[in-house]
Amino acid sequence: MKKQIKAYTYEDLKDDILKLKSDFPETEVGTIGKSVWGKDLYYIKLGSGNLKVMYNGAHHGMEWITSAMLMKFAFDFLRSSKESKAFGGFNAKALARRATLYIVPMLNPDGVRLSALGLPNRLPIREKQRLLRMNGSEDFTKWQANANGIDLNHNYDALWQKSKEMEAEYGIYSPGPTRFSGPRAESEPESHALAEFTRKHDFALTIAFHSQGKVIYHGFMDKNPPRSYNIARAFTKISPYQLDSAEGIASFGGYKDWFVDKFNKPGYTVEVGLGQNPLPISNLPQIYSETLPILLGALTV
Ligand SMILES: [Zn+2]
Repeated sequence: MKKQIKAYTYEDLKDDILKLKSDFPETEVGTIGKSVWGKDLYYIKLGSGNLKVMYNGAHHGMEWITSAMLMKFAFDFLRSSKESKAFGGFNAKALARRATLYIVPMLNPDGVRLSALGLPNRLPIREKQRLLRMNGSEDFTKWQANANGIDLNHNYDALWQKSKEMEAEYGIYSPGPTRFSGPRAESEPESHALAEFTRKHDFALTIAFHSQGKVIYHGFMDKNPPRSYNIARAFTKISPYQLDSAEGIASFGGYKDWFVDKFNKPGYTVEVGLGQNPLPISNLPQIYSETLPILLGALTV
């Protein structure tokens, strides 16, 4: 029997969004924009409190397990809230009154498609050839970028030029599977959409979920927004995550970097799970239970 890698794809996300709308019709679901290939970039709004928080997942193609985790969290949150049940030691109804949480579960659906299922058949031959050239092989499992070969988490306006300058040190000269920061900051529809969505809302805290490493990144360069460090430390006390600091090309141009730099508020990158990317979907239960204290705790800051 051929071994199949079961991934959480854009189709799975769309199914979940439909189910969520039918199970919880009062929940606001919308889109912040579209991907290069025209896929919807969904958001889900939970709760109605004054504390505005945003979680996003799958900036990177092979990190689709973060989308699965965020969708499971949305369902569990809504169910617990509706049934007035305890959720991870919290009163979900009280959390919903305290916080408004926006979840953008899959920022890079095209990258997820490439990593999870390979090249789409319907693509024009020219574009197929272009992607094959960029990737250097038919195996797209390790693809991180969007459909233009731009790494979305190197495409934000936070010392973006530095990220650009360092590419040569990593042997990166053109679009490809990872780390190419694009022609300019926010050149890509996905990163621009998330930046616009962020500018429109006054988020007190944001978390960008990636995989893997079981670590939390906070701050940006010498910027440490008020309470940012203490909240990160609190996360390490309630979960098995450790604090880490970014090095090299990963230090610039990311969503967390941009959020901290522009708004001077707590922004985090949380690397879920441990192992080789793409982490198998069978890791989800453990990742979920390890990360749940952070997903809930960030709504109480
Ligand atoms: Zn990542």
